[in-house]
This record gives sequence, C-alpha cells and structure tokens, in this order.
Amino acid sequence: MPIDPSPRSVSVLIPLALPAPYDYEVPAGLIAEEGAYVIVPLGAQQMLGVVWGPGTGEVDAKRLKPVLEVLDAPPMPAALRRFVDWIAAYTLNPRGSVLRLALRAPGALEPQRMRTAYRLADARPARMTPARLRVVERASDGFARTARELAEEAGVSDGVVRGLIEAASLLPVDLPTEAPFPEPDIGAREKALSPEQSAAASVLRARVEAGRFATLLLDGVTGSGKTEVYFEAVAEALARGKQALILLPEIALTSQFLDRFEARFGCKPAEWHSELSQRERRRVWRGVAEGRARVVVGARSALFLPFSDLGLIVVDEEHEAAFKQEEGVIYHARDMAVVRASLGDFPIVLSSATPSLETVVNAQLGRYERVVLPERHGTAELPEIAAIDMREEPPERGRWLSPRLVSEIVEALGRGEQAMLFLNRRGYAPLTLCRTCGHRIECPQCSSWLVEHRFRRELVCHHCGYTAPVPKACPSCGAEEALVACGPGVERIAEEIAERFPEARIAVLSSDNLRGPQSHEEVFRAIEAREIDIIVGTQIVAKGHHFPWLTLVGVVDADLGLENGDLRAAERTFQLLQQVAGRAGRAERRGRVFLQTYMPEHGVMRALVSGDRDRFLDREAAARERLGHPPFGRLVGVVLSSENAAQAQKFAREMARAAPQAEGVSVLGPAPAPLAMLRGRTRLRFLVKSARNINVQAYMQAWLSALKVPGSVRIAVDVDPYSFL
Ligand SMILES: [Zn+2]
Ligand SMILES: [Zn+2]
Repeated sequence: MPIDPSPRSVSVLIPLALPAPYDYEVPAGLIAEEGAYVIVPLGAQQMLGVVWGPGTGEVDAKRLKPVLEVLDAPPMPAALRRFVDWIAAYTLNPRGSVLRLALRAPGALEPQRMRTAYRLADARPARMTPARLRVVERASDGFARTARELAEEAGVSDGVVRGLIEAASLLPVDLPTEAPFPEPDIGAREKALSPEQSAAASVLRARVEAGRFATLLLDGVTGSGKTEVYFEAVAEALARGKQALILLPEIALTSQFLDRFEARFGCKPAEWHSELSQRERRRVWRGVAEGRARVVVGARSALFLPFSDLGLIVVDEEHEAAFKQEEGVIYHARDMAVVRASLGDFPIVLSSATPSLETVVNAQLGRYERVVLPERHGTAELPEIAAIDMREEPPERGRWLSPRLVSEIVEALGRGEQAMLFLNRRGYAPLTLCRTCGHRIECPQCSSWLVEHRFRRELVCHHCGYTAPVPKACPSCGAEEALVACGPGVERIAEEIAERFPEARIAVLSSDNLRGPQSHEEVFRAIEAREIDIIVGTQIVAKGHHFPWLTLVGVVDADLGLENGDLRAAERTFQLLQQVAGRAGRAERRGRVFLQTYMPEHGVMRALVSGDRDRFLDREAAARERLGHPPFGRLVGVVLSSENAAQAQKFAREMARAAPQAEGVSVLGPAPAPLAMLRGRTRLRFLVKSARNINVQAYMQAWLSALKVPGSVRIAVDVDPYSFL
C-alpha cells in the first residue's frame, strides 16, 4: 500500500445526532482512506467515526484537529455509506443517527483476541517416554490444539506437554478465539424441487446471474415452497462469490428456519438479531466485513451490516409490519432493502404468501417482477375456511367460543389431532370495569386501559409497560368485589379451554410467556412431538411453523384488527388471518379454519372464505387510489409531544401556522393523537398528504427548519407511517 506523504484533510461522520461530517487533518504517516474507521477528538472526548470523504474545506486547514488513530478493519463499503446518506435524507434524520445503526457491534473494531495452540514440529525430544509418545501421536494429525486439549486428549499431565514445548517438538501458533464461519455448500441439497419450484427458481437465478438491480415478488401460498425457491437464488449468489442476506421478521427467525437452511447448504448461516450476545455480534459483524460470513439470516437491522460484497437480498414475509422500525430512526426495512439493492446494483426478492398492497401494486405497474408459485408443494391441500356468524351462534354467557367451534375441537382431538385457537390479544382481559360506578381502570401515564394479566396478577399498560397489582376495591368509588374483567385475552381463552377440556394438554403462546427464540423452540418442539393438544396463541403462532398434526384453527375474534382506523386495517387483518389459517393441515391431513365474526359480510371475511385474495386486493387498491393513500400518494406522520399539555397545544398551533403552502400537499391536523397521552406526554398529530410525484422530504425540510422547537417539545417524523396511534 502506498504511503501518502502529505497530510491532508478528510471529513469524518460521527455516530451522534449530527447532520454532517466534520473535517479532520490526517497526520503524516497515517492512511485514512474513505470508509476507514477512525478515532477523532470531539470536544474533550475521543470518538469513533467513519471517513466519509475528502475534507470539505469549510474549516481553515490550520485549525483542523488531527485524526488520532485509524482502526484495523476493512473500510466501510461505499454502498453502505451511500445507504446511510440515503436513509438520512429520506427519513429526515441526521446522518450521524443513521450511521449509529451501522456500528452496533461493540468491540468489532478492536483486534481479535488470539489463543496459543500447538502443532507438531519435526524435532523429537532427546528422551521419548510413553506419555510423550501419546502426545506426539495425537498431534501427528497436523491440527493445532491448546496445551490443555493435548494433555486431555492424550491422557497425560500438563507437564508432559510442557516438556515437549520446551523441547521444541511442539510449536506455538496463534489461533483466533472465535469460531470460523463454515462455507455453505451449494451442492448439499436435501429435497428435489417440484416443476413449479424449478421454474420459479430459474427466474430468480437468472436475475442473480445478471447481477443487476431488479426487484422480484415471489408470491406463493403458505406451503408452496417459497423458501426452497429463494434458497436457489442464494446458491447462485454464492456460486458467483457474492454474499447473501435473508431478512426475516425477528419472530420468524427460528431454529426451524435455520435447520432448513442447513438441510440445503450443509451448515448454519450467520445470524443477526436482538438476542445475540455481544461476542457473537462482534464475530458476525467482523465476519461480514471481511467476507468470511457468506450468508446472513437476520432481522431488520442486518441491513446495516458492512457486507464486503453483497449480491442478493431476500425479504421473507415482506408484508410484515414488524419490518417497520418505529423508534429512533423510523424506517421500513423492506423498502430500505430495495434501496440497498439498488445502490449495490444487485437483485432483491420479496417473498410472501400475502404480499402487501404496496408490493402488489408495484408488480402490477411493472416496477417489480412477479414470480408466482401456484401449487401447494407436496400433498397438502389448502385449508377450508368457514365463518361462524356470532349473531347466529353465540357462545354461552361468560364464554367466548361458539358451540360449533367447541364441537369441532372435540372432533379434532378425538381423531388424535391438534387444535389451535388464535386471539391477537395478550393477557387475560383488555379492560377492568367497576360494576358499581362504571369506572374503567386506565394507565396513569397513557390514554389507554390497563390490561389484566391474571397469570402475573397484574394490570399492565401495553403501551408504556406500567404495572400495578389488581386492586381489591374500585379505585374510584371504593366498592369491593365490584371490579369485573371485560373481554377476552389469550389467558382467558386458555382458562375456558382448560374448563371445557380438562384432559387436554394446553400451551399458551404469547410474548408474555415466551421470551427469546430459545423458549419458542421448546414449545414448538413439544407441539411437533404431539405433547400438546390445544394451542392458544397471539400472532406468535401465525409465523411459518409446520405442525403436521394441527388440523383445526379457530380464530376467536376475526373482527379484532378491523376496529382501529388505520388505512391498512383490512389488509393487515386479511394477511394475519390468512397466515393463521395457513397453519392448519400442512401435511397429509386437510385443515379446517373457523372465523368467529360479527360481520361475516365484511370484505375481509368474504375474501378469506372464498380464497379470492386478488379480488380483495384490487378493491383495496381502488379504495386507496380514490383517497390518494399509499402507494398512490405519500404520507408523513408528525407527532409532537410534551409533558406540558398547554405547551404542546400552543406549539402545535404555531406549527400549523408555519406549514408552507404548496401545490399538491395538504397538512391535516393538529389533532389529538388516538393515543393522546403516552408515558405522561400529551401527543398531537399532523398528517401530511401529498401526490406521489412530490418531493415531500423537501417540503418537510422547509417546514421543520423554520420552526423554533421549545425544549419541552419533542417532534417525531414518520415518513410512510404504518402506525397512526
Ligand atoms: Zn367504582
Ligand atoms: Zn401506559
């Protein structure tokens, strides 16, 4: 590497909420190429930063502070730096805040710790004993081992090994302390592909082979074998020496998925998710940067890993709302993955059994290429879906399951099969009410009801995490024994099931009793092993698990998601229930699904029962187009909040007055947010609507930069909002 003889200046981006990089001087003898990780002074501190480009010259060269150190790591790839810039501009966040997302692996920039191991040299000791000979024989396979390992394997004392080291019969070598990444074997295939899968796989392979940006929608019903198909695209990327990234919603990152990967490629991929240890985080980050980790399976933040040569992204379950990051830098990982692929000029595959409306419209307009997998792979048929009209067949008083659903469960259990009840509501009851005075117990910090968790004997706020013991008397009127639980959560359904089926083995699956992928695995294995008869769960159960003996799914309240005024409410309800329905009957036994609903005539229920997804999506798309909603128009949500309600309202009025007039842009609000109080802060919302062809970021910049925001007020900007709370 040539030594740069003269000091020069570079701009360094620091992972703090700073809009732009700062200039620093590179002292003679240091090489700070673009993307290099450096230590620079900032005020009294020393900070990690990334060389973003040449110096801007905004500061007089004589006043520049020096780069203190250049760290020993591959420079951040240009595509990732451009990606950071792009997201910052799009989401209206400081570039430094976005950079922070790419540096979430503490210790990854420090040199790796090494351990000393020994391998056999040619020299033999002057005196050979039987114990020494055993060590020599052990070591003669050429592998390096630590002194401890050698002693243990040869069954000798440490002293024997030390003697051989002193005699130079064993030579020290430095070995990394971290496990290496196994090389995926693209020839290690377990299952043959069906003709439909082969045809789809060849389209994907061709795009990877072309090595240009392209977005493909892989659209196939649950069980059609989409995973096997996109694995072939991964194989093609590997064959071309590229890295591949498979993005999954965090909750779908299960060992079942990793096992499938291993069956195809002969080894596990690298993983990236919130449950990783610091040590593993460091190992994967570094392995990705150095090109040793070839395939990463990760949650949304894996997008910010420093891939040295990324050639393919797959976004599985692309419709999942969990890809939207709702705090800090607010971004949609699926949409940003498409940007990442475009910046890196390689293809991206969006896979789903229930693609989002946005993606379907993009496919219809020809922006995305659609690859359809029509058949369910293997012998399984699609489940039969029926609605139970709860007005006609109501449950008994104080119960939640209609007689028809109960008798279906009896029959399924009688055949030795499993049943699942789905209710997307955690806890025991969503509301606690006083029978005497009508008081409803609310969170003191949020405008929401406290949810009773009977198992934990607590009332919990699902928005801020506030907890309180269940009171004995009404906090408002003091009446004792007057508080009643209203409505069901999964715990209450489990209680009803336990009363009706005292012999049945029941598992409750919700995020309250399952923490982390490990505990999921235990329950999922028990279900597979038929140690469970009835599963009661929240949306955790909707994700891609194969339970071959599960033949009956009951949706306790199919109308639940339709109640909120969100523009995607119908679409999301459809997707979620379709996914839940897909759990039934995935092997030889045909599945049956029952939707308990008070609105069987609703478009969502009709689409689910008839299986006519495309017609449903067409109608949804037409409605959104009429209203100028995404993807036909743009939305930006703005939430301002303050602990001081009067100040929040005053500033909201000022903001409204300051909104620039612009053709094609309308500003709705301020209005109290549906969640008008959160963690003690009063919240007000604006919604900015614009036509698709308008640069709404420029509009927002013009608006926000003109504001003088009081210290007590916080503003959160959400481009392409998915949450309207
Ligand atoms: Zn009361
Ligand atoms: Zn709360």
